[in-house]
Amino acid sequence: MGKLILVATPIGNLGDISNRQAGALQEADLVAAEDTRHSGLLLQHLGLKKPLLSYYQHNEEKREERLLTELADGQTVALVSDAGMPGICDPGAAILRAAIAAGNDVDVIPGPCALIQALILSGLPTERFAFEGFLPRGQALLPFLQGLRQEQRTLIFYEAPHRLQNTLQTMLQVFEPQRPVAVCRELTKKFQEVNRGPLAEICELWQQRTPKGEFVLVLGGQTGADNPDGAAENKTAAKEHLARLLAGGLKHKAAAREVAAIYDLPVNEIYQMGLAMKTAK
Ligand code: SAM
Repeated sequence: MGKLILVATPIGNLGDISNRQAGALQEADLVAAEDTRHSGLLLQHLGLKKPLLSYYQHNEEKREERLLTELADGQTVALVSDAGMPGICDPGAAILRAAIAAGNDVDVIPGPCALIQALILSGLPTERFAFEGFLPRGQALLPFLQGLRQEQRTLIFYEAPHRLQNTLQTMLQVFEPQRPVAVCRELTKKFQEVNRGPLAEICELWQQRTPKGEFVLVLGGQTGADNPDGAAENKTAAKEHLARLLAGGLKHKAAAREVAAIYDLPVNEIYQMGLAMKTAK
């Protein structure tokens, strides 16, 4: 069988290309690329000449068969996206799954990824985080963000420049004005910039500028300190959830355990909540 190698590439600074990335591209019989012209320049920069095959979002399915045939012939295929890690908001994950299922050898060569770069640069907690990719557009944005209101993990979003101002304003309708945020722009490039501060302040800053370039937004998760009302809201939601589970016939202990895990509250506190509900009836 063949070998499929997903190769991370720079997100804007060619100096970030590593020996292992160059080695994997050199080793490949064929390079599948999101944009063959763009990746052709990268290969040229590395002094490599390789057959290139376009592999992008809208021809992924069609190309899968061709790539699997190459792998079945024992070829080594390197796959790159325009920037960063293939498979992260870029093609790559589906063909990797298909290659594994077909019994091929697979590997990933590490390298830059905008979400990780932004998360660390933001200075926000890194212990637990959730990457939400590109935010939904139009009317779907507000309810989507509302669904994340009580998320305690640090949140990371990719955003297009022409949507940044609206996204920050919509965030301000949902999250507390003092919620910490970092707007990370043009990472690893000449005009890299990170604006850190309370959501209201950063939103105001970006209403006065014309967003240009590539952006990652990093938003602090909800904490009791950020939102004194948050803890009470969380308990109210937990109580409602518990009532629904008990009404549905779930045993008191099991319901308490489930609700405690979802709302990150002590099991005993939820159990007592349930007892109080029963007494109140
Ligand atoms: N596969 C890439 C990765 O590993 O990060 C992501 C590709 S996705 C199609 C492109 C989005 O990633 C951009 O719209 C932007 O939100 C983010 N991005 C990529 N490079 C960036 C950079 N240098 N600075 C800031 N954001 C970047």
